[in-house]
Amino acid sequence: MSNERSKDERWPRNDWQALDAATQLIHDEPHACGAIAPPIYQTSLFAFPSYEAMAARFRGETSQPLYSRGDNPTVQELEEKLAGLEGGEAARAFASGMGAVSAAVLSIVQSGDRIVCVRHCYPDTYRLFQQLLPRLGVRADYVDGKDLDAIGAALPGARLLYLESPTTLLFETQDVPAIAALARAQGVVTMIDNSWATPLNQQPLRHGVDLVVHSASKYISGHSDTVAGAVVCSAAWMQRIMELSYPFLGAKLAPFEAWLLLRGLRTLPLRMSRHAASARVLADRLRDESRVRNVFQPDPRQSTTLSDVSGLFSIQFEEDVDVAAFCNALRLFRLGVSWGGYESLAMPAGIACQQSGSVNSLIDFGVPKQLVRLSIGLEDSDDLWQDLRLAITNAA
Ligand SMILES: *Cc1c(COP(=O)(O)O)cnc(C)c1O
Repeated sequence: MSNERSKDERWPRNDWQALDAATQLIHDEPHACGAIAPPIYQTSLFAFPSYEAMAARFRGETSQPLYSRGDNPTVQELEEKLAGLEGGEAARAFASGMGAVSAAVLSIVQSGDRIVCVRHCYPDTYRLFQQLLPRLGVRADYVDGKDLDAIGAALPGARLLYLESPTTLLFETQDVPAIAALARAQGVVTMIDNSWATPLNQQPLRHGVDLVVHSASKYISGHSDTVAGAVVCSAAWMQRIMELSYPFLGAKLAPFEAWLLLRGLRTLPLRMSRHAASARVLADRLRDESRVRNVFQPDPRQSTTLSDVSGLFSIQFEEDVDVAAFCNALRLFRLGVSWGGYESLAMPAGIACQQSGSVNSLIDFGVPKQLVRLSIGLEDSDDLWQDLRLAITNAA
């Protein structure tokens, strides 16, 4: 494809792996024509030069791309980067985080199985477990992820342990290595949603977890311009996903979306350190605010696996604070779902509790109604603080 030397020719494998993730994310395998940015292979199918070449591909003897619901070179470039970042043998990109979660879970469970899941998991993960899986004869039990004894008691006989550390909205962390060891001893498969930490700040596969899922719509994209997901795991687990769910559920990632994510990844280390620095400053100032009862932010010093915070945390206002007035007074923070982009966002839990539909994890798990989740963007932290401070004054 290119007359440039491949990365492997320039870098012995161990030397390459010794480089910092920030450096690795900048450098790609050579592209056609020496293009620095990856080409977008905007094609549904790939043609073969001969009957023999096509037959060899179908027999699995070559790896030439066949059809873009499965092998697209732009998407594969992203998958290789994600596998490298997580320290996994294989990665698959999906059309959304939920595409990744559902394909991975459905490749593991079957009728009669039980899932153990941490409380305060992502709301649509909860809906998948409560609305779709019971129709397939799979049920889920929910445990306090901080309670090792409760997890240990729930594991015997379970098929899958589903973790999210930290959890959605309340950001409770789990002792991932200890829990993974408990599950392994019981023959229970472990899966974790690692969207909050990103592979830069937590690498669960290195701590005994079997499969990692991501909403790449958040920090991996970083620019609030695409919805995407990923699964990273061993080659054996990936083979199972490929045999049982991925091709049939069809939630493949489009090449242009993969290109956006490859572009986002270049600046992931820079962005994450800025998000973390601002989030630490703002969370500290908010802890000193008399109108703020609680700040929910994980403390990496108390975690066995987290190396840093990200930009997402929640505050709980005192009962008499007018949350609507606070939200309406914000000028830099926009009101919106999702997180992980360059822009700061506020998401009041009281609104999410009113979401229509029969299953609502916020209500079932009991999220405080005075809670507001903040996604700290890349703006100047003093500007953001002025915005928050004035809005709190307005609402008090
Ligand atoms: C957003 C999110 C998801 C779902 O990802 P989509 O890309 O929106 O499908 C899963 N887990 C967590 C923690 C999330 O925040």
